[in-house]
Amino acid sequence: MTKAETLARRRQLLGHNLNIAYQNPIKIVRGSMQYLYDEEGREYLDAYNNVAHVGHCHPRVVQAGQQQMAVVNTNTRYLSDLINEYAANLTATLPERLNVCFFVNSGSEANELALRLARAHTRSKDLIVLDHAYHGNTNTLIEISPYKHNGPGGQGAPSWVHTVPLPDLYRGLYKSGDVEAAEKYAQHVNEVVAQVGAGHLCGFIAESMPSVGGQIFLPEDYLKKVHSLVRSAGGVCIADEVQTGYGRIGKHFWGFEKYNVVPDIVVLGKPIGNGHPIGAVITTREIADSFNNGMEFFSTFGGNNVSCAIGIAVLETVLEEKLQKHAESVGSHMLQQLRELMTRFKLIGDVRGSGLFFGVELVRDRNTQEPATEEAASVVNQMREEGILLGTDGPFHNVLKIRPPMPFTDSDGDRLVETMAGILGSQISDLRSQM
Ligand code: PMP
Repeated sequence: MTKAETLARRRQLLGHNLNIAYQNPIKIVRGSMQYLYDEEGREYLDAYNNVAHVGHCHPRVVQAGQQQMAVVNTNTRYLSDLINEYAANLTATLPERLNVCFFVNSGSEANELALRLARAHTRSKDLIVLDHAYHGNTNTLIEISPYKHNGPGGQGAPSWVHTVPLPDLYRGLYKSGDVEAAEKYAQHVNEVVAQVGAGHLCGFIAESMPSVGGQIFLPEDYLKKVHSLVRSAGGVCIADEVQTGYGRIGKHFWGFEKYNVVPDIVVLGKPIGNGHPIGAVITTREIADSFNNGMEFFSTFGGNNVSCAIGIAVLETVLEEKLQKHAESVGSHMLQQLRELMTRFKLIGDVRGSGLFFGVELVRDRNTQEPATEEAASVVNQMREEGILLGTDGPFHNVLKIRPPMPFTDSDGDRLVETMAGILGSQISDLRSQM
């Protein structure tokens, strides 16, 4: 089918609130490592898809899935060495107290389960969330995701959800020059804790680097302070590592490690299956035991043999190909180059990044920080025409979001930055002069 026919058929058959990326949609028919290919064989450098963590269709992962599919694929009610091996390998990457795994099929399911665990352990429901956060697509997760319930079509937060300001040191309430920013942001959590009352708090959930919020890095001591406040009120701390785990941020394997904290529950999704739907929740034995209240927990597909074989292969690939170190090296080179771009183009208000996780925030005026939303969309669409795939995010959709598959190289990064410089230098100044 031609691209136009595929689009028409999709419009007829699928829900219309499934977004399509780019003004000029792309029909992808094949992928290989950090590249995607359309129906005409055109190659795109994928600088956006953090799901294909070890690379699109990585041969080792493909082989693991194919082999296990031909042997058996059944559920967790039968004994299997695969699930035990996967759980052992996963927990070996985590701090010692996080040593019990549950497997599901998506990040949303994993966050849902994390909430069930937290509620069972604390016997409370009140939850603290960061503004602009996104944790998944179910009813309850929309309720804890301000990005959704305060956005188009949303109906606000229920009374048990307490939203605190996003600790964004560039655009937030307290900025990077403020040495007390961490304390001031944590004070908002303290206020909720006081309002809810000790013994009535379920917990706190946050991404270790809020991604939908705009690729945000938290103030250094923020999580430490928040975890201490939440625990002193009897709550548990949940780290949503769906976007930030598995070595992506380079220096650390897990996002929370950057802040020297150990959460009580860790939620995993996207990259751990490299495109195969796997979600996981890892917690302490104590919390897992609270959840073991007589009601069976069962997921038909969660932890099936094929998923475990794939999950094992992905993790082994991350470790054996030393992708964390690779992300650190390629990422620091690219961060330097993006910062250099900022000295040349006033449109760039802020550049932040760690490993292969970057945000480039576009503003019309560096003083007022007026979000350059249309310009960001224009850059992304121009980049797509040049064969490089990026996205935007943040409350104003003015943050260029760069999170490529981990095999992304220095020369891929050079190409991305050079292409972006060309676009910022020409098309965007044209666009600005038309406004
Ligand atoms: N948590 C975070 C931080 C996410 O970014 C996402 C997906 N974008 C989810 C949870 C939900 O994951 P899924 O789409 O696999 O259900």
